[in-house]
Amino acid sequence: MDTEQLKQKILDGDRRALARAITLVESGRADHRSMAQELLSELAQHKRQSLRIGLSGTPGVGKSTFIESFGMMLTALGLRVAVLAVDPSSARSGGSILGDKTRMERLSREKNAFIRPSPSQTHLGGVARRSREAVALCEAAGFDVVLVETVGVGQSETVVAEMSDAFVLLLAPAGGDELQGVKRGIMEIADLIVINKADGDLKSTAARTRADYAGALRLLRKRPQDPEGYPRATAVSALEEDGLDETWAALQELIEWRRARGFCDRTRAAQARYWFEQDVKHRLLAQLETPQAKDDLVRLSDAVAEGARDPAEAAAEFVSRLRAD
Ligand code: GDP
Repeated sequence: MDTEQLKQKILDGDRRALARAITLVESGRADHRSMAQELLSELAQHKRQSLRIGLSGTPGVGKSTFIESFGMMLTALGLRVAVLAVDPSSARSGGSILGDKTRMERLSREKNAFIRPSPSQTHLGGVARRSREAVALCEAAGFDVVLVETVGVGQSETVVAEMSDAFVLLLAPAGGDELQGVKRGIMEIADLIVINKADGDLKSTAARTRADYAGALRLLRKRPQDPEGYPRATAVSALEEDGLDETWAALQELIEWRRARGFCDRTRAAQARYWFEQDVKHRLLAQLETPQAKDDLVRLSDAVAEGARDPAEAAAEFVSRLRAD
């Protein structure tokens, strides 16, 4: 299949073509890369937009259970839902977060759903670019909602927030002390904090946890892109499918408010700028990885350590050698 055919099939919402295109953007081969680039540029002209929801939470909090229940609710509403994952640790642990076949079994059988495991790559920068491009492909394929999941390991939340219209943090019911466990930076990027497992014995704890976080969120600096009452905290049971409709309503209210005031467009513009800058940095850093550059770096660094060369002068030589290559 050539790029033109692939493009057409993606625009028609063909899931196999979409999967194939994502494989292209994940590939390290130069010919795949250039095909992916051409495809992305052409698809971008169609300016299709999904609601992109970033979702994070520590392992065991119930991300896959939540995504499955939430996704099933959305498909029942007639919406098309894509699920992607950003997992910087996948290469280390040997498995990807959506790789387990038993995860989201019901949702994976839905014809209006598309589930894609995370690419296994150690380098967060590489994972980020591929994921962002995968999101763009899902948008072009006409998905109404794109859910981007990540495990909470600090840096990856920021990466996911930079490719989302709204960011959801999933937490488990816990005592007040554990509120400290969520880093301030993560609280600041959350639009919605969802306390999961609000069922059975944990129901009242979940209600307390929700109230604690609602209080903590009120103390944060007010952001211009938030309507009154946001960021908000909700409590759900992904297992019993309770509270999911309220969470969806809260997300829709937030997004409609932002869209009406141009915040979504402005955020997307700022995100595009961010990704451009990241890509420039990655390309420059990649130049340091060539065998020649590595040799030069070791040689000049040794010379500096021995006192034979001045650090700044050696650095200047290194950079001019890089440029000459
Ligand atoms: P993930 O690692 O964040 O993807 O978490 P999973 O979705 O795999 O869930 C981890 C465990 O929590 C599983 O045993 C789930 O059955 C359980 N779990 C998930 N959601 C709920 C919930 O709403 N209520 C209860 N009681 N358990 C849940």
